Amino acid sequence: MTKPLIVITGASSGIGRATAQRFSREGHPLLLLARNLAAMQALGLPECLCLAVDVTDRAAMQDAIARAEQQFGPTGAIVNNAGMMLLGEMQRQNPDEWDTMFDVNVKGVLNGVHAVLPGMIARRSGTIINVSSIAGRKTFPSHVAYCGTKFAVHAISENLREEVAGHDVRVVTIAPGAVETNLLSHTTDQAIKDNYGQWKEEMGGVIAPEDVAEAIWYAWRQPANVCIREIVLAATRQQP
Ligand code: NDP
Repeated sequence: MTKPLIVITGASSGIGRATAQRFSREGHPLLLLARNLAAMQALGLPECLCLAVDVTDRAAMQDAIARAEQQFGPTGAIVNNAGMMLLGEMQRQNPDEWDTMFDVNVKGVLNGVHAVLPGMIARRSGTIINVSSIAGRKTFPSHVAYCGTKFAVHAISENLREEVAGHDVRVVTIAPGAVETNLLSHTTDQAIKDNYGQWKEEMGGVIAPEDVAEAIWYAWRQPANVCIREIVLAATRQQP
């Protein structure tokens, strides 16, 4: 029997890429979305539609999901994972960086929800998995705008879960601590990057994207009447 379609945003790298590989291993058809098409195609996964879509483009998200559903059937789950972390101190940070993070991390998640929710409610089935962060539960230095976006993802996920629970749609928040990915590479302040790198080294390394993918898989594979509301995971040695 064909397994349900899994939509993953930010699948060209890090957690999204590892999640794509994890679900593909279980035989799910996939829709992978990110701007770097070649990186997604290079994964060479079977039953996999890769499309260059910016999650801030609501219409493009909608079209991509409609196209994948025509090919593979209704969306079983969406993993709203695409995100940017541009750390900075408020007095120095270029406000364009806040705009980017709120557009991608917050509105991108809402765009993903918007594209799948009516169908999930109509079918009384579906799972929305939003990748937030421990920075969506507590604050960190130089994280003002980033924490703002991730607290928003936590709030959106929990409030949405309450709203759609009666429709049998599950909403899951994934809150990782530091993960070994390219996320920090876009931060423009070199001193902040260096400090972050040193912090990771001091704790003897951080968790792998595959660890987060496993948590996402665990939440998805529960029986439909069980909703894992939130998974918080980090390296054992990560103190905050
Ligand atoms: P990566 O930088 O490795 O991956 C980020 C992904 O997001 C890429 O695939 C990138 O693809 C995609 N992306 C960024 N902007 C857009 C956009 N406008 N439209 C579509 N896709 C976009 O980082 P991670 O894997 O670490 O990050 C994934 C998620 O995990 C993020 O939401 C992040 O906040 C969260 N997270 C990460 C932690 C960490 O320590 N790494 C800790 C806690 C949470 P492309 O550039 O091709 O568009």
